[in-house]
Amino acid sequence: MDYYRSRFFWQYDEHKKKYKLMKWSILNKPKSVGGMGIINLEVQIFCLLSKWLFKLLNEDGIWQRLIRKKYLGDKTLSQVSKKAGDSHFWSGLMEVKDLFLSLGVFNVHSGDQTRFWVDLWLGNKTLKDEYPALYRITRRKNVTVANVLNSRPLNVSFRRALSGNKLTQWLQLVSKVADVALTNEKDAFVWLPNRNGLFTVKSMYSNLMTNETTLAFCRSWKIKVPLKIKTFLWFLKKGVTLTKDNLIKRNWKGSAKCCFCNYNETIQHLFFECHIAKFIWFTVFIAFNIKPPTSFTHLLGAWIKGFHHTVRNQVLVGVTALCWALWLSRNEIIFERKVPNSYLQMMFRGTYWTRNWARLSKEEEKTSLNKCCQRLDACVTERDETSGRGFRSSLSCFTSELRLLTLFIDDVGVRCQHSELSAVAVEGAWSLRTLFLNFVFVSVTNHL
Ligand SMILES: [Zn+2]
Repeated sequence: MDYYRSRFFWQYDEHKKKYKLMKWSILNKPKSVGGMGIINLEVQIFCLLSKWLFKLLNEDGIWQRLIRKKYLGDKTLSQVSKKAGDSHFWSGLMEVKDLFLSLGVFNVHSGDQTRFWVDLWLGNKTLKDEYPALYRITRRKNVTVANVLNSRPLNVSFRRALSGNKLTQWLQLVSKVADVALTNEKDAFVWLPNRNGLFTVKSMYSNLMTNETTLAFCRSWKIKVPLKIKTFLWFLKKGVTLTKDNLIKRNWKGSAKCCFCNYNETIQHLFFECHIAKFIWFTVFIAFNIKPPTSFTHLLGAWIKGFHHTVRNQVLVGVTALCWALWLSRNEIIFERKVPNSYLQMMFRGTYWTRNWARLSKEEEKTSLNKCCQRLDACVTERDETSGRGFRSSLSCFTSELRLLTLFIDDVGVRCQHSELSAVAVEGAWSLRTLFLNFVFVSVTNHL
């Protein structure tokens, strides 16, 4: 089942294989611990079955009585185990029983539903774990609390006479249970993962799925952008987006070079270290006096935490839009060989997406996001009277050269159409253009 579900996720087309960016088990993890929150069906079934167990332990309706009569006889639920010939339903319950019981504690009243050694009912450890040496030599390991405590001396027998250390432990145990008074009420099973002690499928599921240390809450899932973009951001944070270095790891054959400059393309390079990325972050710096982040871990960690909590989501929407714009432009250059009219286009694209997604936010946030976009646009086109700074003046001198160069590439392409050298010549012209762009960005960023 999960196999088909994972194929739905990675492949939209039956016959077209796509790269799998992440293990299915990581995608299954809840968002709070850095996963994607896709339900793990196997664990989910465990939890749904456990709900029956909880009801069987704590409620007393007709079906509970029927089932107890059919399957339990005079034993408790915790004492029975899977037998050949059990129904599917019952053997399912028996399979999850131990896991289920390990997540709760028995509130002992009459003591006849709770196992003395194995269930958790006294302190925060089972007696089996607290006195392993005694448990090993006891004769009836599944005996109930009622069975043991209803007679004095305690109804426990061992295979060997107790002496030394074991005797001390036994005396300790006896004094521990001496104060326990049994009543006529039924034992209750208290569910620990939920504060109110009641079982919910959700609490069990998240408990099972988060048995690693809980990381800081992953904010990127809360922002108001389309799901596709959240996934994009999540892949960036996990470092699995298909930049060229990641493609090469998957045996892709091709040039590792960044399409904007001469360095190798990695997520870190493309979004933080490339001139084009620096240009974007510098613009943000000039418009809002915000220092650039250094990596996605930094961005989604300390960097975003540096903002007041009321604006964090808006900042993240804007930043995500800029990254998305950068990624789209990079893909256009690589896949469609589109030449960006101007590096400023990247900024406008970023503000375009920010405005677009702002419609998903609340009215107030929408207004302030739009204002920020105005400021960014003004900053790049130098219409911002307050700061009086911008890129246009420093770059206008290059615009005509850039246009000429683009024409030159087209010209090379046309002239060499029928020649064998065509590909080489176009490639050469492209490198020339990249070099020139590089030069432009260096001079702009230095100028700032
Ligand atoms: Zn680059």
